[in-house]
Amino acid sequence: MPITTTEVLDCLRKMAAVIHENKEHLTELDAAIGDADHGINMDRGFQTVLKKMPSVEDKDAGTILKTAGMALVSSVGGAGGPLYGTAFMQAGMALAGKYELETEDILAALDAALKGVVMRGKANLGDKTMVDAITPAVAAMREALTNGADTANALKEATAAAEKGMKDTIPMLAKKGRASYLGERSIGHQDPGATSSYLLLRVMAEVAQGKA
Ligand code: ADP
Ligand code: MG
Repeated sequence: MPITTTEVLDCLRKMAAVIHENKEHLTELDAAIGDADHGINMDRGFQTVLKKMPSVEDKDAGTILKTAGMALVSSVGGAGGPLYGTAFMQAGMALAGKYELETEDILAALDAALKGVVMRGKANLGDKTMVDAITPAVAAMREALTNGADTANALKEATAAAEKGMKDTIPMLAKKGRASYLGERSIGHQDPGATSSYLLLRVMAEVAQGKA
């Protein structure tokens, strides 16, 4: 069964709730290697996303995600907002006009989101950013799809890969963003952006699971 726009909206609302619940956690992670605002930034962004949702309730998935992306770009300062904003806008472009999403559509959207982040932030794998969580997630989802997994299982695999990618940022030396200013002192801390990416993917997997 494809994912409907009702579920896309539900997913964005749940993302907002999970980011809100993890506001302190994300901010603490950013306090260690950044400027202690990642949770605050993400929460402000997703609260703005929530406010925009009623205006797109009857729209296609592409419009819904593009609207979410624009809300993030417009309401969040720093690196995280524009990067996530680009991710959601690019995902929206990949889903333009669609009201029902198959597993390959969701993979295409995630891949477009990752490409958007890389295009905008120019981070490489191993630079200790959200790219280190999203890249393995996209690869795992692609592999799961090739092996015939349904949406829920493919997203479950993607989430597990993102979680590993997130943990793998701990020993990395940051080469992008504020954490890179710390040089060697960035080693030993989990990247906040990789953590929020994992949390968002987990919500997608849970929403898809709820359907099965
Ligand atoms: P800021 O660093 O401006 O305070 P946030 O704290 O909201 O913004 O976000 C920090 C997160 O953004 C980092 O943990 C990292 O994952 C991500 N990030 C920073 N720079 C880049 C980049 N160039 N490419 C990808 N992600 C990045
Ligand atoms: Mg910060």
